[in-house]
Amino acid sequence: MPFPSLKEQFAALVATPSVSCTQPSLDQSNEAVIELLAGWLGDLGFHCERQRVAPGKFNLLATRGGGPGGLVLAGHSDTVPYDEALWRSDPLKLREADDRWYGLGSCDMKGFFPLIIEAVRPLLEQPFRQPLMILATCDEESSMSGARALAAAGRPLGRAAVIGEPTGLRPVRLHKGVMMERIEILGQSGHSSNPAYGRSALDAMQAVMGELIALRREWQGQYRNPMFSVPQPTLNLGCIHGGDNPNRICGQCALEFDLRPLPGMDPDQLRTLIRQRLRPLAERHEVKIDLAPLFPSAPAFEEPASSELVHLAERLTGHYAEAVAFGTEAAYLQQLGCQALVLGPGDIACAHQPDEYLDLARIEPSVRLLRELIRHYCLNSALES
Ligand SMILES: [Zn+2]
Repeated sequence: MPFPSLKEQFAALVATPSVSCTQPSLDQSNEAVIELLAGWLGDLGFHCERQRVAPGKFNLLATRGGGPGGLVLAGHSDTVPYDEALWRSDPLKLREADDRWYGLGSCDMKGFFPLIIEAVRPLLEQPFRQPLMILATCDEESSMSGARALAAAGRPLGRAAVIGEPTGLRPVRLHKGVMMERIEILGQSGHSSNPAYGRSALDAMQAVMGELIALRREWQGQYRNPMFSVPQPTLNLGCIHGGDNPNRICGQCALEFDLRPLPGMDPDQLRTLIRQRLRPLAERHEVKIDLAPLFPSAPAFEEPASSELVHLAERLTGHYAEAVAFGTEAAYLQQLGCQALVLGPGDIACAHQPDEYLDLARIEPSVRLLRELIRHYCLNSALES
């Protein structure tokens, strides 16, 4: 069978659903996507390793060439869920119209992989002095468990990693982190006619919210990065549930909030600080206060403006590296020793939406850019030690 064309690969990936979702009823395996990619990359002479992250969930690391340096081209193999009724055509069937390829994952971001393959194919006759690694992760859209498992395994990856999330082909070297946390207060319910009959979780929650708002003010005074359109860290009190009747002392109350730390703010340290500040409130109100993450947090990311990869990408694209408002797996790749950058062909404005697409005009410049990166890190480069 002849090797599939760029468009055939694109269509096959779109036609192979790999939704990841925190709601188990919508969550799907990504194994079929991993097998498609491993099949193509194996045919091209890549050594393919699968890492099982959870039942039905896999990362793929496909490597060509050996050595300590080299380049990682990375993306996630999953997509968000989709509302089929809101699409103008079948989301799982590639449709070409308006100089675009429409389909689920075309922009975010299964469509990145055929572009990598297109970039590398003409180079395969040449010796790879440093390795090219193509990484496809699972569950980026739900828990980032794939990237987390890869980081936990701890095997060093190449010298530079480019993550092809939709940035409109502009290099991105910073984003904020995402934490979603839940505070539960357990007091004691009782008849409202006498406060001594209970311990109000709602009264305690009012104090907790005051403390969180005070912390927010402190963090916003301490941390600021003008690269971001919202230059400070944010903390949003999202929802609260507690109590039932006006004549009962509220025994239980829960609050959920989202915290978006800037690069340099460590989620574990932030959580420790919040706990420290809530402890005296628990004593004062004689209630139990628990803080726990709703999801494992996604760390903030910053690659220094001075890094080689940033310079190279700025030169190749003609754009200064910037900051974005969405999160990626970049910080996990940095943990494995790579310089990291987010740079991909799609537009974030159409991601996670019906009629997601990739502009056909982006294909050729993306392939050219990826080919230059591969040349630089894998063909020309002998690793300086
Ligand atoms: Zn994405």
